[in-house]
Amino acid sequence: MHYFNKFRVKPGSSVDLNSIDPNFKDKHESHEHALPEIQAYSQKLSELQYLMYAEKKRSLLICLQGRDAAGKDGTINHVLAAMNPQGCKVSGFKVPTPEEAAHDFLWRCHKETPQKGQVSIFNRSHYEDVLVVRVHNLVPKEIWKKRYDHINAFEALLHDSDTHVLKFYLHISPEEELSRFKERIDDPARHWKISEGDYAERPFWDEYTKAFEAALSKCSTEHAPWFVIPANHKWFRNLAVSRIVAEYLESLDMQFPPPTVDIDDIRKKYHAAEKSQVGKE
Ligand code: ADP
Repeated sequence: MHYFNKFRVKPGSSVDLNSIDPNFKDKHESHEHALPEIQAYSQKLSELQYLMYAEKKRSLLICLQGRDAAGKDGTINHVLAAMNPQGCKVSGFKVPTPEEAAHDFLWRCHKETPQKGQVSIFNRSHYEDVLVVRVHNLVPKEIWKKRYDHINAFEALLHDSDTHVLKFYLHISPEEELSRFKERIDDPARHWKISEGDYAERPFWDEYTKAFEAALSKCSTEHAPWFVIPANHKWFRNLAVSRIVAEYLESLDMQFPPPTVDIDDIRKKYHAAEKSQVGKE
């Protein structure tokens, strides 16, 4: 549980994002240097997801949050590439539709939580309702400030229902965000990613920092931890997220379910079938 403990926000502690280095890359000099480890954790993740799918006793919810261009899409690509698509689902949360806005803020997220055996990844999540909503005063403070407790109760319910919740804040610097915006302008294949919103949110950088710090401090619990992932290096971000998920899943000590048939009996049937096949040849 080395990375799990290293990047976890300890329950009850307060987070100061400016004191966390977004360039951190542990002992690795470069992507090439880290590649064997990245591949090893992807392989591990693949095996553990297969086990979760077979076991069908519990599920996993991964929430990804971060500023624009923090790498939510890239992380999803990396984590999903290791998984069997039959066992996972990605849900994105944008400005609420009229139907979503006509319900409580958790409604749209609760519907997307994974069933037993499945992994769900949230690209943005119920935390938007204490992030963008708080920064832009989209609802009065009396309403959003109660949401931290609502979120903790919601995540406790999920945990008690065997849905394990891991939440990742992808931590980038303002310089790195700007350089990614430039890459988007310079690369026609990324033009579709550019939105006016990217630039509209940058003047609120410090307000977002406060909102993220509040969410990370108030809602990192024993049953649903937050992790702050240094994300200026995309490859390190991918390594850290997949390693934490793999370490956590491993700690669950999942087991393949017992066979639903008598294996000795099935073996006899197989040998009989094999014999009659040989007779035909
Ligand atoms: P992406 O997730 O790829 O960045 P968009 O560029 O469409 O997709 O951004 C989605 C936008 O929806 C973000 O600006 C986000 O803050 C906003 N959003 C998500 N949830 C809410 C919410 N509950 N209330 C208001 N805005 C929200």
